[in-house]
Amino acid sequence: MENTTPTRRTALVTGGSRGIGRAICLALARAGFDVAVNYAGNAAAAEETAEACRACGVHAVTLQADVRSADACQQLVEAAAKELGRLDVLVNNAGVTIDKLMMRLTEQDFDTVVNTNLKGAFFCTKAATRLMMRQRYGRVICLSSVVGLHGNAGQTNYAASKAGLIGMVKSAAKEYASRGITVNAVAPGLIETDMTAAMPEAARTAALSTIPAQHSGRPEDVAAAVVFLAGESAGYITGQVLRVDGGMGM
Ligand code: NAP
Repeated sequence: MENTTPTRRTALVTGGSRGIGRAICLALARAGFDVAVNYAGNAAAAEETAEACRACGVHAVTLQADVRSADACQQLVEAAAKELGRLDVLVNNAGVTIDKLMMRLTEQDFDTVVNTNLKGAFFCTKAATRLMMRQRYGRVICLSSVVGLHGNAGQTNYAASKAGLIGMVKSAAKEYASRGITVNAVAPGLIETDMTAAMPEAARTAALSTIPAQHSGRPEDVAAAVVFLAGESAGYITGQVLRVDGGMGM
């Protein structure tokens, strides 16, 4: 029978090169996880993240893959498991925005965002849970958003992708619960990264006015929630959406 109590856990983080993904890689490394840092095009940033993980004393590799491709996701998961020896945790973090009012949104704008944020998470989760089922152990964590819960003018494509993730997480949680695999979502509010640096000032001010904490969050705030859900002590938590938003959605 396969050994189900390994000494070292491993994690694959999609979009681990920058922003929230980078903070998740580092927090996992500090918690003792070996880490595979996925990126789309920014090899230098991914290598910098992996190097920072290695400085924590863990094994870390970089793996290029565009999560919009099913084949690329399959190969990414296989490569992560091969490089790290096994795969215990998948963090579906890769995401993009193309913000426009619906009347200006093209089919391509819609497809690009949904294919990256939602379909990419589906491809990676399907490939990873195949391995996790054999281990009878796994943690899948998807980066949703408060926008997926409440909607936001100018983000219909993004909101659809992030709401879709929540439905996928809850359904997958039910399918895999008996196999020792948990599937959860983290829903950040306004977090300071490259993604939100591009926000118009008026939109930023409006968003800040809805946050009881009265300030935006840091990538590390989100990473702490992900590390909690990735841990063995969170094994009885599945199908949940953990908000990290300074009280924005209460
Ligand atoms: P970010 O700074 O723009 O970083 C995006 C990351 O995703 C990068 O590592 C990028 O890789 C990767 N990526 C983009 N397209 C990809 C693709 N097709 N295949 C593989 N990787 C891809 O974004 P962030 O703010 O850290 O956001 C991370 C996640 O949190 C996203 O899912 C986002 O929707 C969610 N989120 C963010 C906020 C916020 O306020 N920032 C709030 C709620 C939810 P490269 O470096 O190679 O380009």
